[in-house]
Amino acid sequence: MSCALLQTNQPDKLAMYRDNAHRELDKFIDRLAPKLLQEEPLTLREISDVFQENKPEMLGGLLQEFIQTHLLEQHSQIICECPQCGKPSYKKRDSSRRIDTRQGTSLVERPYFYCPDCKKGFSPVDEALELASRKKQYDLQQLALKYLAEMPFEKAGELFKEATGVSFSDNRLHSLFAEFTDQMTIEDVIPAASDIEQRIAGLARSGNRRPILAVASDGAHMPTRPEGKRDAKRGAGKYKEAKGFRIYAIGRDDIVQIASWHQIQDADEFSRDLKIAAARIPQDKVRICLLGDGAPWLWRCMEESFPGSRQILDYYHCMEHLHALADAQYGDNPDKALSWVIGAIGHIYYDETGLVIGGLRRMKPKDDNVKEQIRKLIGYLKNNQHRTRYDGAKKGGYPIGSGGIESANKFICHTRLKRSGAWWLKPNGNGMLRLRCSLVNGTFDEAFSRYVTRDQAKKFLRTNT
Ligand SMILES: [Zn+2]
Repeated sequence: MSCALLQTNQPDKLAMYRDNAHRELDKFIDRLAPKLLQEEPLTLREISDVFQENKPEMLGGLLQEFIQTHLLEQHSQIICECPQCGKPSYKKRDSSRRIDTRQGTSLVERPYFYCPDCKKGFSPVDEALELASRKKQYDLQQLALKYLAEMPFEKAGELFKEATGVSFSDNRLHSLFAEFTDQMTIEDVIPAASDIEQRIAGLARSGNRRPILAVASDGAHMPTRPEGKRDAKRGAGKYKEAKGFRIYAIGRDDIVQIASWHQIQDADEFSRDLKIAAARIPQDKVRICLLGDGAPWLWRCMEESFPGSRQILDYYHCMEHLHALADAQYGDNPDKALSWVIGAIGHIYYDETGLVIGGLRRMKPKDDNVKEQIRKLIGYLKNNQHRTRYDGAKKGGYPIGSGGIESANKFICHTRLKRSGAWWLKPNGNGMLRLRCSLVNGTFDEAFSRYVTRDQAKKFLRTNT
């Protein structure tokens, strides 16, 4: 909506608003006077509290007066085109609507029209202001969603009230969260192709080489619970795997976030989602490397989406496997265990995995348990041999550890979803993951704009009085 009130060609409106606003201010001062003018002088903190308590009423009042003045012409309108059929419709009545914004509560007085052909009522003022279908307007909704992304619903409501002076009940927060995140898809959460191209183009390069694009995948366990009453199903919660990827670009001296995506889902769904992200990547403008641990599903999915890319087994994950075997075999001799690991990782690093496998075959296992562990480690090293060329990767400037995805896991999934006593219904957990990913990816504001457009479209369908 264009805001013409303060333009110089409308001095009358400005004067009118000034008068009305002053009246609101007087009311504010009258309300405050008995609290402020006491015998005992107040401290600054007490004065600020009195102001804070009365601020929503004053600012809500100022905003209300602004709207009334700003849309003066619309208020005296008696004929208006029906937005559906275009025929002139007559004003049916004056009607007022209470709205909450970040400023506080305001009353919007506006004429209400009715089209007898479409049998629909409508309000042009609502359209002009883009009023939300909920009482809480979009500015509050957008802020509330950001609070919810960071903390439990109850706490979010509490702090929201403290910061804005406006109450957002637990129930309404839940329904806002559900409505917003249910509509949110991976297409909303992953940045658009043009945006991704820009982020990559903004990176400083080393020489003429294309920037590196790292695609790291991982699974993280999320606490979930079945549908039903929270208390009735107590103890029925179980951990399900959230599968996720993080895509980031590496320039000469910085790393830029491209896209994070985590959902509680199976490997096929993960594969479908990774393909959607891959289609938005300008693959010919980057050198792609895929990072992961030993999980076969993860490599299959990444290969399908980014065929022919360099693959790197997470170095630390590989080390962990070597340590586990060394501890089992030489547990009574930590020095020997450590020197074996250092020797083995040295060979692997310089692409001499064959030597390590040969050594493992000659090793005399301490017991049957170790024998089995040796067999598994040989399999692991053979399967991943083409992914452990760390020396070459390092020289090419590629990362060799998947710390990037692990920190994303921790930040996106664990800090919000893994709170003690929190067990998530799968749809809510996934909704929360989508919301948090959109904030990390910088796509939240656009997703919110699309939500506003949808809310506006459905509003006319509903105004049926
Ligand atoms: Zn009509």
